[in-house]
Amino acid sequence: DAAAAAAGLRFAGLRSLFFTLPEPLLALAARAFQVAEWDRTHRYCGRCGTPTRDRAGERAKECPACGYVAYPRISPAMMVLVTRGRELLLARAHRFPGAMYSALAGFVEPGETIEDCVRREVREEVGIEVTGITYFASQSWAFPHSLMIAYTAEYAGGELRPDDTEIADARWFTSDALPALPTHVSIARRLIDATLARLAH
Ligand SMILES: [Zn+2]
Repeated sequence: DAAAAAAGLRFAGLRSLFFTLPEPLLALAARAFQVAEWDRTHRYCGRCGTPTRDRAGERAKECPACGYVAYPRISPAMMVLVTRGRELLLARAHRFPGAMYSALAGFVEPGETIEDCVRREVREEVGIEVTGITYFASQSWAFPHSLMIAYTAEYAGGELRPDDTEIADARWFTSDALPALPTHVSIARRLIDATLARLAH
């Protein structure tokens, strides 16, 4: 935390670099951010509390007292864009800025496959069932250590019932009447744009 910038250099927040750094450099910065954050939060053994040390030969922390080994933590999360004919299901979470709508998303829980997580989150957040869960792409997300794995799925039944603890609104949209969408740096926007292009054919 207290490191000083070398002469001629300065620190910048990772988020502020999204629109200025080219993709390979941004990926490198995000990797550095996650490793530094992991280093800062794994100074003591999670099992016995002894100070850890860096392990030789791999990126890991080991406990000299009990031998526990901790690796950088990556938390998988899923995102899913549900379609019904030519309509897209987009939701506005309470935490979203302004009037933005996006695809549904949530963290994978212990013991779940990602497909289980897709079905559970869709059921919990909007009360419907889906089928045809299909992989789209993934994106590392450094805040603080997620791997977002994106899917498309088709509506299979049920009435939209947004869970108002997380979701302010959820609706079916057509391409000619879309709400405000996430920025192009997000996998959410790539998922939405690719799906709109597919539905247009
Ligand atoms: Zn230990």
